[in-house]
Amino acid sequence: MPKLNETHDPSLQSWVISANDPESDFPIQNLPFAVFRHLDGNEAFRGGVAIGEQILDLAALHRLGPFEGTAARALEACTKTTLNQFMSMGPTAWSALRLNLSRALRSDGPLSDRIATCLVPQKEAGFAVPAHIGDYTDFYTSIHHATNVGRLFRPDNPLMPNYQWVPIGYHGRSSSIGISGQSFRRPNGQTRAPDAAEPSLGPSKRVDYELELGMFIGPGNELGTPVSLEEAEEHLFGLCLFNDWSARDIQAWEYQPLGPFLSKSFASTLSPWIVTMEALAPFRTEWHRPADHPQPLPYLESEANRNGGAFDIHLETLLQSERMRGEQAPPVRVSLSNFRHSYWTVAQMVAHHTVNGCNLRPGDLFGSGTQSGPNPDEAGALIELTQGGKQPLTLANGETRTFLEDGDSVIMRGWCERTGARRIGFGEVVGTILPAR
Ligand code: CA
Repeated sequence: MPKLNETHDPSLQSWVISANDPESDFPIQNLPFAVFRHLDGNEAFRGGVAIGEQILDLAALHRLGPFEGTAARALEACTKTTLNQFMSMGPTAWSALRLNLSRALRSDGPLSDRIATCLVPQKEAGFAVPAHIGDYTDFYTSIHHATNVGRLFRPDNPLMPNYQWVPIGYHGRSSSIGISGQSFRRPNGQTRAPDAAEPSLGPSKRVDYELELGMFIGPGNELGTPVSLEEAEEHLFGLCLFNDWSARDIQAWEYQPLGPFLSKSFASTLSPWIVTMEALAPFRTEWHRPADHPQPLPYLESEANRNGGAFDIHLETLLQSERMRGEQAPPVRVSLSNFRHSYWTVAQMVAHHTVNGCNLRPGDLFGSGTQSGPNPDEAGALIELTQGGKQPLTLANGETRTFLEDGDSVIMRGWCERTGARRIGFGEVVGTILPAR
């Protein structure tokens, strides 16, 4: 587990002045990674690090040759069109680059005049999915979401008996994962209305969002060689925001017996910025399992995981309808939750995924599953907030929603704050639903 070091010092300031704004998601203590290029350019995508309102172009920085040794090799890996090679290098390389970037961007950084030529304003950048995602696995780690949704799908049997023992997941599609700004067509699919004898094909009437965190895998493991809980986080590069769009009517008809299929594979949207596990170190928190719940099997149990395996990450969802956009009205908050409520930790997800010998590869993506908190307004999906569509939400302008309408944009944000640490954020992930084809 990454420990606190000089890069987390809350008193550090940057010569990039916008990074010193207390409200900034991207102070010098954060330094998240993305893949970007100029919006209007045909140039190659390459790695970048967020600092205030700017991006430090890592390919341009590499041409200056400012670092040596491990940090220089890590910087070179960030000049590629994806971060897979950098992710594969592991915590020693990630940490060496972070330390060098932190020192270079500090107020007293000796190379600030030269490095300033490598900055690109974020608003002039376009982003790409930051890694080639070979495999994508979606977990289901909020017991509140599992219980709320289970109650709607199976009123007499909301929580399956395996839930409290197994970090439940399924293998999703990586081909339809896009980057923030993505818009997609309302999916067509097979659904069956409650009063209908037979299903029919047509546009989904129940498109929903899912408020999740994405986790990028760093170094992989050999096929047949499990990753222990103790080693698990050495295989985790970092976390981002993830909207796992879901068609609830397609899902309800198709999900038994093998789980979600076409109800999930039409689109999923990632935030551009990946916050590293090291940047998140100040926001670790205790992981609790209620005493009257089953306790984890030994391969999912450790003192370190109990003491600091969870993360205190605030997660927010906002909605902006087409009408609101037309009236230039700001998006309205529909839910506010926190990753600390997760029933399983990121380390437990890695340990469980590999316990059968399954091999993970650099750039693989895990979704955390919808992160709903214990209170009703902390639900991370509309299906919960509207009781399965029975209780519409009323938005600030009087519009109502049960599920998403064409033209709706969903915005998710995440941030960490704690006394004694500098606040850091994840930026945002935005996606918009278009009419069915
Ligand atoms: Ca999901």
